[in-house]
Amino acid sequence: MKKQLIAGNWKMNGSLEANDALVRAIVAGMAGAKCSVAVCVPAPYFAQVQMLKSGSQLELGAQDVSQHEKGAYTGEVSAAMLREFGIRYVVVGHSERRQYHGETDAVVAEKTKAALAHGITPIVCVGETLEEREAGRTEEVVKRQMAAIIHVNGHCISEIAVAYEPVWAIGTGRTATPQQAQEVHALLRKQLAAATAHAERVHILYGGSMNAANAAGLLAQPDIDGGLIGGASLKAADFLQIIGSARMPA
Ligand code: PEP
Repeated sequence: MKKQLIAGNWKMNGSLEANDALVRAIVAGMAGAKCSVAVCVPAPYFAQVQMLKSGSQLELGAQDVSQHEKGAYTGEVSAAMLREFGIRYVVVGHSERRQYHGETDAVVAEKTKAALAHGITPIVCVGETLEEREAGRTEEVVKRQMAAIIHVNGHCISEIAVAYEPVWAIGTGRTATPQQAQEVHALLRKQLAAATAHAERVHILYGGSMNAANAAGLLAQPDIDGGLIGGASLKAADFLQIIGSARMPA
């Protein structure tokens, strides 16, 4: 069985001073962790975090990538640039990008492709809104989001990671129950299995108000391969407790 992956998504938070204390505490506390650990940080901090984490198992991630290779795309950061900073993971299609930046399923699929082309593992986010869940449309929505990714990246789909992040659970303190999350993870796994013989290799993370108190229950589910952690990844003690809740690879 693969190791679980615990990835922090700092979002637009941090400062040179705060990052220094946070990363040093994570590195010191994660020694001997039984899971893989990453922090997805704002781009201006790549060099700082790269230096702080050196010699440790902590991996560096980004929060977005351009779907374009290079050129006149002011403000964008390419996958090749991320690669130069040793970026191992990039969050793609986070609901905040879909909601506030108009990212469509097609754009998210192209960003996934750009990351894969440069050897960066995209953590592709899918998830339904509260309205969609209450209308009984969860399965339809996450399958549509995933189908767009598979359509464009079918040949190397086993190289991606997925984060199931119900929009109603992000930053709200309202978490999916382990059973609700497992149900969606299982259907995503099934969808991946129809596209690749290696669906078991794909990390399917849960994200949405995962914290020190609820992590163990979620991470114990058979199809939950880790977590994408927002708010709780900014507090070293909480993040380390989540890391400590990961289940042992068999
Ligand atoms: C996220 O932004 O990916 C996330 C899961 O946030 P939070 O843990 O704060 O809900």
